[in-house]
Amino acid sequence: MVPFAVSERISSIKSPIREVVVPAKKLEAAGRKIIFLNIGDPNKFDFDTPVHMKDALKAELDSGCGFYSPSEGDPDLRKTVAEFETKTNGKSFDVSDVLITSGLSEAIGFLNAVLVTKPGDEMLVPGPTYPPYIDYTKLNMGVPVAYRTDEDNGWQPDLENLRSRITDRTKCIVLINPNNPTGAVYDEKTIREVVNIAGEYDLPIVSDEIYDQLIFEGRHTPTLKVSGDVPVMLFKGFSKSYLAPGWRVGYVCFHDPHGRLEKIRDGFLKLARLRLCGCTPVQRACIAALEGTQEHLVETRRKLKERRDFAFKRLNEIEGISCTRPSGAFYIFPKVDLSVGGWKDDFDFVMDFLHAKGVVVVNGSGFSTEFGKDHFRSVILPQVEVLDEAFGLLDEFMRTKKKRN
Ligand code: PLP
Repeated sequence: MVPFAVSERISSIKSPIREVVVPAKKLEAAGRKIIFLNIGDPNKFDFDTPVHMKDALKAELDSGCGFYSPSEGDPDLRKTVAEFETKTNGKSFDVSDVLITSGLSEAIGFLNAVLVTKPGDEMLVPGPTYPPYIDYTKLNMGVPVAYRTDEDNGWQPDLENLRSRITDRTKCIVLINPNNPTGAVYDEKTIREVVNIAGEYDLPIVSDEIYDQLIFEGRHTPTLKVSGDVPVMLFKGFSKSYLAPGWRVGYVCFHDPHGRLEKIRDGFLKLARLRLCGCTPVQRACIAALEGTQEHLVETRRKLKERRDFAFKRLNEIEGISCTRPSGAFYIFPKVDLSVGGWKDDFDFVMDFLHAKGVVVVNGSGFSTEFGKDHFRSVILPQVEVLDEAFGLLDEFMRTKKKRN
C-alpha cells in the first residue's frame, strides 16, 4: 500500500546530526559496540548540571509552580536575563527585550517563520552552520545561503564572500560565535566588519552566542559590544554553558536602537503565544543559573581544553586527516582526503567508518553542502581515553583503506 503523502516542505528536512544515529543504533542492537561522537550533549559524558540549578528546580517543583507561565517567559527569568546580558554586553536590556524559548532551537524556528516573508527569501548563514539554520529556512520556503568561512584562516568569516552573497532577498545575517561545527571564535575586527556590512545593506544580525562561555584561549567578543546602531537579535540559552540541554531553555534579546525590529518582535511573540508557554519550573530554576556561582565553568573549560588539545594533536597524526584547532565550543571539524578510501563523498566516508569501526561522526556536508563537504564533525566531549580509542580506530581505518587502494 502507498503511504499517505506529506508536504514537500517536510521532505526537505535532513537533521544530519541525528540521521547518522539510525544505522548506528541498528548496529548497536545487533550487538556491536558503538562510540557516539555525533551529538553535542555534554550530559551524555562526564559533565553534569550544576548542583545549585538542580536544587533550584527541586524547590520550584515543591513550591507548586506547575502552572502556565506567560508566553514571553517567566517574568523573573526575563528580568535576570536582561540584567545578565546588560552586564555581559555593555548594552542596556529591559525585561521587554527578552523572550524565553523552549531551547534556542525554538527561537531558530520562530526566526525563520517570521523573517521568511515569501518563498525564496534568503537567510545568510555561516558555511558551515548548525543545521537547523538550514532546515527551518527550507521549512518556511526560504533559501539558506551560506557565506564562506575560511578554514585556512581558522574558519573566520570570509568577508568578501559574505558581501557577495547579499541580494535584495536577504533578510538577515546569522553569526554563530563560537561556531558549531568548526569551534572557531571570531576576532573582534571580523565581527566589526560584519557589522559594517550589515549596516551598509540595512540588515539585522542574528548573533548565536550559545557557546560564549566555552572558550579555551583568547576572549569572546560579543557582537553587541561592537554593533553600534545595527539591530541585533542575540540568541543564547542554558544547554551548553550551563550543562542543561535537556531542560530546553533558550532566549532571545532584542537590541533595537531605532525600533526597526518592532514587527519582528511581535512575530516572535505571536508564535510564542501559539505554543502557550515554555516549561515553568525549569524557567524559574534557570534564574539560579545566572544569579548563582559560575564556578562549574572553570572545570568545564579545563576538561574541554584538555580534550581539544588531545583531539587536535591525535587527528593531525592520521594520514589523510587534517584539522585546524578549535578555540571554543565542543567540536572539531577535520578534513578528510577522500581519495584515501575512494569514498564518493563525506557521507560515504562516515558510513564506511561507522560500519567498519563502530564510531559515529557527522558528515560535514550536513553543515553546508558547499563549505562543509570533505569534512566530518566530532564532539570533543568524551574523556581522553575514549577519544584515544575512537581516533585510534580512525587511524587503523585510514591505514587499511590506504593499503587497499
Ligand atoms: N545554536 C547552536 C549554534 C547550537 O549548536 C545549538 C545546539 O547544538 C543550538 C543553537 C540549540 O540549542 P538548544 O535548542 O539546546 O538550546
